[in-house]
Amino acid sequence: MSGELTHRLIENGWFKEVSEQWPGEAMTLRVEKILHMEQSLYQDVLVFKSTNHGNVLVLDGAIQCVEHDEFSYQEMIAHLPLASHPNPVSVLVIGGGDGGVLREVLKHPSVKSAVLCDIDEAVPRVSKQFLPHMAAGFDDPRVTVHIGDGFKFLDDKKAEFDVIITDSSDPVGPANSLFEKPYFQLLKESLKPGGSISTQGECIWLHLPLINDLMTMTRGLFPVAEFAYTSIPTYPSGTIGFVVCTLDENRDLRTPLRDVKNVRYWNKQVHKQAFTLPTFAQKVVDAA
Ligand code: SAM
Repeated sequence: MSGELTHRLIENGWFKEVSEQWPGEAMTLRVEKILHMEQSLYQDVLVFKSTNHGNVLVLDGAIQCVEHDEFSYQEMIAHLPLASHPNPVSVLVIGGGDGGVLREVLKHPSVKSAVLCDIDEAVPRVSKQFLPHMAAGFDDPRVTVHIGDGFKFLDDKKAEFDVIITDSSDPVGPANSLFEKPYFQLLKESLKPGGSISTQGECIWLHLPLINDLMTMTRGLFPVAEFAYTSIPTYPSGTIGFVVCTLDENRDLRTPLRDVKNVRYWNKQVHKQAFTLPTFAQKVVDAA
């Protein structure tokens, strides 16, 4: 059991998400009960029940998912590349140990195999216990789970996946390498012809230099690379972005090719408008 970080972040019954990654602001959630604390091999893991927003998973002090609004992020990072791909059969999720993205991937009937690679066994373990609605997909016979570093996992993969989704934590700690060019080069090599990727692209209100770097790098590697974003109240500044790329130079990533059943946030119109950026962010993406 750890707890030192948790006790710094929970004060007078409120969890406060303080971090230099979003200086001067902090999401606060009222804690009903701490459900789990541990220091895993890689990170500080905390799960608490909030008074109004359901259970919350926190890694190294950063909110990863909140039951209240997680579906916005999980649906969009998954369905943007999947619904615009003509026939996604083989899918890889890097990170995503809570299972939420996997749950969305499995909503596509064309998917025959879904592999998830998270560095930390503690995340799927605690999600199965405390976030069962997210972790439901782990029991699906199409799923294989690999515990290990996503970068290393991709090292010997060649043209194996139709879609690869990188659902990583922020670019500090174990996820740092998942935001750098060698990783995106590996993603490209691991895709089948016409394959697509999506990756967590941080926040237009806070991280424009990082977004510019990501777009410059992906536009150097893929014939089509776009930036989209969604609204999600419990992530810093209330939005999170996605970098979506494909090897198919004729693919229109903005246009879904089919509907997805049992969704709460995504629909065909939301898919299209997710790529329409406010002027200040569009300028940065255009400059890449
Ligand atoms: N949606 C969340 C967000 O943006 O805050 C991310 C959720 S998901 C829980 C992030 C996962 O990435 C964590 O379970 C973490 O263990 C995993 N992760 C971090 N670095 C990794 C790496 N190098 N390889 C594989 N998984 C990694």
